[in-house]
Order: sequence, then C-alpha cells, then structure tokens
Amino acid sequence: MKKSMLLFALVVVGVLLSACNQGATAPKEKGEKLQVVATYSIVYDIVKNVGGDLVDVHSLAPIGSDPHQYDPLPADVALTTDADVVFYNGLNLEEGNAWFTKLMETAGKAGEDAPVFRVSEGVEPMLLSSKDHLGEEDPHAWLDVRNGIKYVENVRKSLKKIDPENADIYDENADAYITELKALHEEIVEKMNKIPEERRILVTSEGAFKYFSKAYDFNAAYIWEINSHHEGTPEQLTTIIATINEEKVQALFLETSIDPRSMEMVSRETNVPIKGKIFTDSLGKPGDDGDTYVKMLRWNADMIYSGLNQ
Ligand SMILES: [Zn+2]
Repeated sequence: MKKSMLLFALVVVGVLLSACNQGATAPKEKGEKLQVVATYSIVYDIVKNVGGDLVDVHSLAPIGSDPHQYDPLPADVALTTDADVVFYNGLNLEEGNAWFTKLMETAGKAGEDAPVFRVSEGVEPMLLSSKDHLGEEDPHAWLDVRNGIKYVENVRKSLKKIDPENADIYDENADAYITELKALHEEIVEKMNKIPEERRILVTSEGAFKYFSKAYDFNAAYIWEINSHHEGTPEQLTTIIATINEEKVQALFLETSIDPRSMEMVSRETNVPIKGKIFTDSLGKPGDDGDTYVKMLRWNADMIYSGLNQ
C-alpha cells in the first residue's frame, strides 16, 4: 500500500472511531445528573419517580398536547442528541407521521445499541378494530395501573443498566413507587365496583379506555378510536349519538388533551351533559389537577365515579 493510501485509511478509521464514541456515554461525574428524554408527560413523570434526584428529564410532547402526533422542535433534537437515555411508550403511540423514528435518526440514536428504551415492554397489547386501524396496537396501556407498574419496572431496569453505580437508589425509588401504585390500583377497583354495572359505560372522544375498561370492568364507547387525521367525521358522530341514546348514557367525559368541539356537539345532540375533564394522553400542568401519573389516575376515577353514580 502506498504511503498516501495508508494515511487515508488511517484517517477513515479515526473518523469512524470518533463517530462511534459520540454514541457512548461518558461516566457521570459525581453530582452530575443523567440527561433523560421521554416522549410525553406520563412517561416523564414515571421516570422522575424512579430516577429522583439522579435525573434531569425532558418531555418531548409538552404537557397538554397530543403525543400521537408531534413535531419535534430544534431544541428537542438537541436534547435528544445529548441525552444519556431516551424512553418512549411504543405500542403505536408515537407514530403520527412516524415522528419518533425520524427524531431518533436525526439525533443519532437509531442504532441497535442506542440507549433508547420502550417502557411498555412486557405489556399484553390490545388491538384496534376500526376500519382505518384494524389490527394496530392500542397505545393507552398506562390507564390500567398494573401496566403502569410494568412501565416502572422497565424504567428501573434501563436506568440501572445505564447508571449501574446508583442501582440501589433506583431500586429504592422504584419499590416505593410500585407500593404506591399497587395501593392506587386497589383503590380504583374498589371505587369502580361501587358503580352499578349497567351504568359502567364510559364515553370519551378518543377510544383511549380499552385497557382501563378491561381492568376495571367497563364498556368503553368513543367518537373515534385513536387520534388520527379522521377525528369527528359525520359517520363517527352518528354512531356515537345512536349508542348514547340506546344505552341511556348518563354522562360524557372530555379529555384534557383533545379539541372539545366534537364532544360538545355530541352533548348538544343527545342532551347528555359533559360531566367533566379526564386525563388520557397527558398530565395536568404543574400545580393543576392531575399533574402526576398517580394524581391523574385518581382524578379520573373520582370523576368517572361522580359522573356515573348518580
Ligand atoms: Zn391517545
């Protein structure tokens, strides 16, 4: 090999090696927090509970917005590029225009060894049934608290893998949080059981309550099955209005992260009141109702109970 060729080859190898190194995480200095990106506010809160003081977490889809469809900002790309860990829901949540996959590619985190973890690992997926989405996975697993506990276990495992030195602290935080979530699950079961069976019909804009309904013995009805580009079509409105009339539904519920106009129209057409707001795809703003995963679930149970049990 000529000298110049050898030099060229060495330069190429050097560039490749330094590109590889960019993906690796340097060990944290004492007191330096792990930089974490979560795709939406519910996972953001779960990671904060497990990571405690050891993590700085950024939620990509801001509180109150729809995580199904999100357009990452330049700041999101920068934070994701620099992040030590990324957590996403999976189960078809972050798929609107495939925004998550694209972001991971742009941020250099698309490789198999990238520190990107799906929190719904191990959850038994439920499938969509409407004609545009037949057979696709339903993402809203977190509305069954027992799935939320699986999310916590996955976050714990991933944080320990990335930051093994602090494994004991992640274990301690996760154990305490799981104890709280187990008690919350029992509390919701008890509360929902007090609603007479024939009144356990939950009407929301998006059909986000499949996992919830299976866990807490409800029937879920909705205007559209999953947030997409076909929300509140005349056909969807006619169908839900007929269901509400047939089933003599007492109360409607409106999600905080969804445009209220479709549900307001349904309420006008059926004379059934919108009982109140409910949290599905986002937490409440800090300091407001439902500003943690635990608080949003408890709020929902209270709202559903008071809406249907009168
Ligand atoms: Zn949703």
